Amino acid sequence: MMTGALIGKRVNLLDKGWIELLDMLPHPDSNLSGDLAIVNAARVSFLGETKGEEKDKKLLFYLMRHRHTSPFEMVEFKFRVRAPLVTWWQWVRHRTWSMNAQSGRYTAFEENDFYVPDIWRRQAASNKQASEGEIGQETGDQLTQKLLQHYEQGYALYRQALDAGVSKEMARLFLPGFSVYYTWVVKVDAHNLMHFLKLRMASDAQYEIRVYAQAIYHEFFKPALPWTAEAFEQYMLNPPAS
Ligand SMILES: Cc1cc2nc3c(=O)[nH]c(=O)nc-3n(C[C@H](O)[C@H](O)[C@H](O)COP(=O)(O)OP(=O)(O)OC[C@H]3O[C@@H](n4cnc5c(N)ncnc54)[C@H](O)[C@@H]3O)c2cc1C
Repeated sequence: MMTGALIGKRVNLLDKGWIELLDMLPHPDSNLSGDLAIVNAARVSFLGETKGEEKDKKLLFYLMRHRHTSPFEMVEFKFRVRAPLVTWWQWVRHRTWSMNAQSGRYTAFEENDFYVPDIWRRQAASNKQASEGEIGQETGDQLTQKLLQHYEQGYALYRQALDAGVSKEMARLFLPGFSVYYTWVVKVDAHNLMHFLKLRMASDAQYEIRVYAQAIYHEFFKPALPWTAEAFEQYMLNPPAS
């Protein structure tokens, strides 16, 4: 796929979330592919540039294998993302991203701005942080009904506080915290994005962030940087046994 077609592409995630690619460096109009931007940056060490596809790809794999990481910082992705706060709580721990978020002090929340999961996952037996399997359908449906009631009550209290003249920054104390959807603009370079993807696509990452990481990788990163993605899978996701 041409990278130009990726800009503006939006992928829907969870029940009301999405991710959209806003911009990329190198910009598709520049006629320089992301993979080549990485190769050319590496060759500045010798004041050279592209040497043809075979040698360029070989160099990129060499860079990844030997963790010569700075050339991968020459490619950047900017996304607009709508995700529940439980996802953001984990995403913001990645300090190498630039971020700007919707302000709940400025914009009032809407009645349906809350995450409703499809299924209820069970507590994992062996990993205290993780989940595995599903709660049965009947109990799951009851839990979903209770969650919807909880959202309705929380939102009604939020509206009451606003109607009483309370500021938005305080009225939001009534909202169910982890599940409210926020929209952010985020930017990251390819090197730090690969670090994020390795951690957040892993099976022990929480599902609500894993789906965003997987969408970034499969819908944007891999089509934009096919050589880098191949090398990333070979040396970072599935490294050879040492
Ligand atoms: C499965 C899982 C479970 C987790 N559980 C918890 C938990 O229970 N509690 C909790 O608090 N967090 C938890 N985290 C978050 C985790 O501890 C990291 O904060 C998060 O994954 C970001 O990783 P990072 O610091 O490597 O990434 P980034 O912040 O993006 O940094 C990338 C790299 O840059 C370097 N770097 C960045 N800033 C600094 C700095 N100030 N000093 C030195 N080096 C720096 C480091 O090499 C770092 O690896 C969990 C993460 C995962 C994936």
